[in-house]
Amino acid sequence: MREKDYESKGIGCYMFRIDDDTVIDATMHGNAARFINHSCDPNCYSRVVDILGKKHIIIFALRRILRGEELTYDYKFPIEEDKIPCTCGTRRCRKYLN
Ligand SMILES: [Zn+2]
Repeated sequence: MREKDYESKGIGCYMFRIDDDTVIDATMHGNAARFINHSCDPNCYSRVVDILGKKHIIIFALRRILRGEELTYDYKFPIEEDKIPCTCGTRRCRKYLN
């Protein structure tokens, strides 16, 4: 519902699914990591880590990252019929995010 509400208002949506029951909504509040784009050939990956009973999203580098290089990770969206085109532009692009 919230995602549709943001779309109707033209607000970009920055949500991260933690598990089947929890989604972190960083649309209105969150750090710069919420702006990390998807890539089918990323230089980072994300992990949800439990620290003292509280879940955190941590972004790790997959390889050495050069200064000024855009950070990306694979969003790993579930496969759905309503496809979201991918514009990552890498040679390994799967053409869709889902
Ligand atoms: Zn792609």
